[in-house]
Amino acid sequence: MAPSEDILDLLTHDELLRFTQDFIHIPRSNRRRKADIISFVLQYGPDELLTVLEQAASPRAPTANPRIPKRRRDNNVAFQRNTIRRVHEPWDQQHDPNQFLCLPSKEELHGRYERFYEATSNDTIAMAVCGICGREVGVSDHEVVKWHLNEFTPEHT
Ligand SMILES: [Zn+2]
Repeated sequence: MAPSEDILDLLTHDELLRFTQDFIHIPRSNRRRKADIISFVLQYGPDELLTVLEQAASPRAPTANPRIPKRRRDNNVAFQRNTIRRVHEPWDQQHDPNQFLCLPSKEELHGRYERFYEATSNDTIAMAVCGICGREVGVSDHEVVKWHLNEFTPEHT
């Protein structure tokens, strides 16, 4: 099996050229970038060359993938957090177990749609730039009052 690009990438540019020169002629246009050498070698290189390259590069490969245990640890932390939060939630007061998997009635459903549409409507999420601090603010959240620029222009009488 051919070595992966990642493995060959562990070799330096010079090493790649040095190892390959006895086996294959790499055109000038493919010699400048390491990635080009690697893809050329993987495409046209004889098996002996690939074996030599793999043997040279493999010892530099990290022995164990350190990302897997770390990710597992993170999952555990997240899992513990969820558990703790659930324990502290007064879930039995908010959720009637007898209602489990019961579908909402048509009225409830429409009410929920309505609240969803209201909460995500263009008017609700409209933003405006504050004329005093220059920050972007939510029109409804911050009770923005719009003024026309002309209203601030002093009148010359
Ligand atoms: Zn402001």
